[in-house]
Amino acid sequence: MRVALVVSLLFALVVPATAAPSQGDIERRAAELKKQLAGQGFTVTTTGPFVVVGDESPAKVRSRVNFIDWVVRLIEKDYFDKQPDKVIVIWLFRNITTYKAGAKKFFDDEPTTPYGYYSSSANALVMNIGPGAGTLSHELVHPYIEANFPDAPSWFNEGLASLYEQPREREGHMWGTTNWRLPGLTAMIRKKELPPLRALLATSSDEFYGADFDAYAYARFLCQYLQDHGKLRDFYRDFAASKDTTGVTSLEKAVGKKLEDFQPEFNKWALSLRR
Ligand SMILES: [Zn+2]
Repeated sequence: MRVALVVSLLFALVVPATAAPSQGDIERRAAELKKQLAGQGFTVTTTGPFVVVGDESPAKVRSRVNFIDWVVRLIEKDYFDKQPDKVIVIWLFRNITTYKAGAKKFFDDEPTTPYGYYSSSANALVMNIGPGAGTLSHELVHPYIEANFPDAPSWFNEGLASLYEQPREREGHMWGTTNWRLPGLTAMIRKKELPPLRALLATSSDEFYGADFDAYAYARFLCQYLQDHGKLRDFYRDFAASKDTTGVTSLEKAVGKKLEDFQPEFNKWALSLRR
């Protein structure tokens, strides 16, 4: 007994606090939720590092799980060596009504977005899955960035997540296709209201989320530019290992020129895109 206790104490000291949750941790969390949600019409299941809770039909929840598995397999392959270091529950609500009610009931949140959000403090992805799975693939990126690139600026965190709002698989890799955010970017270019790339990359988190320009569209299409030119994965690896937390150094390296010289090229490329 005593030896076992000492061994387990040593184990607790040796295992880093950031270790991925064990299958046992994940199953325990699922069992807790099954108990808590019994009789309320939820399906509770697990996949990889996640517990999935959904109020659609059990078959539909299973199809969502297949989608999660596909996204996770592809983004892990290209970007992420580590899985999230905690059990994260993915809540999939079937429409805006149950999403808002669930966010309030289970998290005391009043969401500022109709689609879904990641709450790092609550270890939860909370989603209105009604409009489609694009929000799910977006939100899945966030806990992975948190685990693998904790110092990532918001522009990159949201840019990469937004890139995968309309995901396809291309030659075994995740591929973000041009989506509904395009007009947000091209309107700024046409009106000559687009801030310089250097300004986007320098935004703090508050400046990014509070920007008076469409920062999501700008960041998203910068990531798409790198993707379309075969530079995104190397850019990411270089950036995550770099001391320059704005990404300027890695971006200039990726495009082979100063940002000011790259800007006209980027703008021209953006204006040539079609949805
Ligand atoms: Zn996001």
